[in-house]
Amino acid sequence: MIVPFSDLKRQYENLRPAMDLAIQSVLDRTAFVGGAEIAAFEAAFSPYCGGAEVCGCANGTDAIELALLALGIGPGDEVIIPALTFMATAEPVALVGAKPVVVDIDPLTYTIAPDAVAAAVSSRTKAIIPVHIYGQTADMDAIQAIADTHGLHVIEDCAQAHGAEYRGRRAGGLADMATFSFYPGKNLGAFGDAGAVASRDPALMEKVRLLRDHGHPPKDKFSHRIIGRNSRMDTLQAAVLGVKLPYLEGWTEKRRFIAARYDQGLAEVVTIPVVADYARPVYHLYVIQCDDREGLRDRLQERGVASGLHYPRPIHLQDCLREAYGYQDGMCPEAERICGRILSLPIFAEMTEAQVQHVIESVRQAWR
Ligand SMILES: *Cc1c(COP(=O)(O)O)cnc(C)c1O
Repeated sequence: MIVPFSDLKRQYENLRPAMDLAIQSVLDRTAFVGGAEIAAFEAAFSPYCGGAEVCGCANGTDAIELALLALGIGPGDEVIIPALTFMATAEPVALVGAKPVVVDIDPLTYTIAPDAVAAAVSSRTKAIIPVHIYGQTADMDAIQAIADTHGLHVIEDCAQAHGAEYRGRRAGGLADMATFSFYPGKNLGAFGDAGAVASRDPALMEKVRLLRDHGHPPKDKFSHRIIGRNSRMDTLQAAVLGVKLPYLEGWTEKRRFIAARYDQGLAEVVTIPVVADYARPVYHLYVIQCDDREGLRDRLQERGVASGLHYPRPIHLQDCLREAYGYQDGMCPEAERICGRILSLPIFAEMTEAQVQHVIESVRQAWR
């Protein structure tokens, strides 16, 4: 049996008639940029951000950059980010000229550790970017308390957390601003790159809208009020996302069901994910810990089971950041230890029961 890490082809086949119609409709109108599908998707996605206003953009990395620029963050400023995340959380901070200050994670939930955040605040700190890693929200009340004490902004990186909940409230509406990625492999994925920024602050969102489209208001094409850039969402991607969105809730439930099966089948043999009492995760990834990670990976591969590493190296130990900011080994001991022990198992809505069972058996067999 083969268990791929995800199966986007099967997902497309299940949606094919509606998807092909939606795409054809954009082609028929050649409305490739700025089509009606974009505003429609922004409105439809707002409930996933607790009712915050949504602005589509080109990808999740740009979304973070647009949020930072809208908040006026730039040279001389510091932004606190977690050590365990995808590189895209750090890059925009550096690209706007600020310093990414990398701090350690909580070893149980893998999200940014509030006490590490508190210890890293300096007179230059302007913002904190908690990442809802693997689909579980960070400890937002603790982070917001630190932000309130020091007058900092909080930007949620929701790239892995579409629909995740924190104390019954949706990720994306928990802080000043939030950013999403709709990269094809995310829980809600386009047929290419796409992203979004969300916020309840109309002034910030007006700024994001200007920044994403050359600094001009939608109806005044040659009046460039601020220096912006081109980070628009394609109409085709908005159309694709609009077709998929009604299925997101069901796909998330399927991910939760598979996670529960893994929890039950694997708790005795590996370290399973810990769900915080405040969190309702969406399992973008199902990440276990074990002593012989490479050995387990090889055994799984022999049995046709794909696995992934998210992430093999903490962000501060990436050469480019290490060189730019002088980061050292030992700076974030929990993240450094955990990066050598984690393994991501296949989890996607289209998995069959037989595939789920095969993954469980294959992991269990590796210890026999
Ligand atoms: C995927 C991802 C991003 C970046 O999104 P892109 O759309 O690929 O630019 C940012 N942060 C995290 C945590 C991600 O997983």
